[in-house]
Amino acid sequence: MRRMTVLLLCPWCEDEVAFAVDEASDELVCDGCGIRTLFAPDPSTTYNLLYEAA
Ligand SMILES: [Zn+2]
Repeated sequence: MRRMTVLLLCPWCEDEVAFAVDEASDELVCDGCGIRTLFAPDPSTTYNLLYEAA
């Protein structure tokens, strides 16, 4: 099983941290705080989803 990570600015960690991509559920999981957010193919959409949830 492959594991992808992306760097995103996490609003909870207030830092740029690695997010693991959970392809099974189309979610991103923050390595720092464990928050889950929906993963969108477009990075800017993912970013917006992350911040709308904050
Ligand atoms: Zn975080």
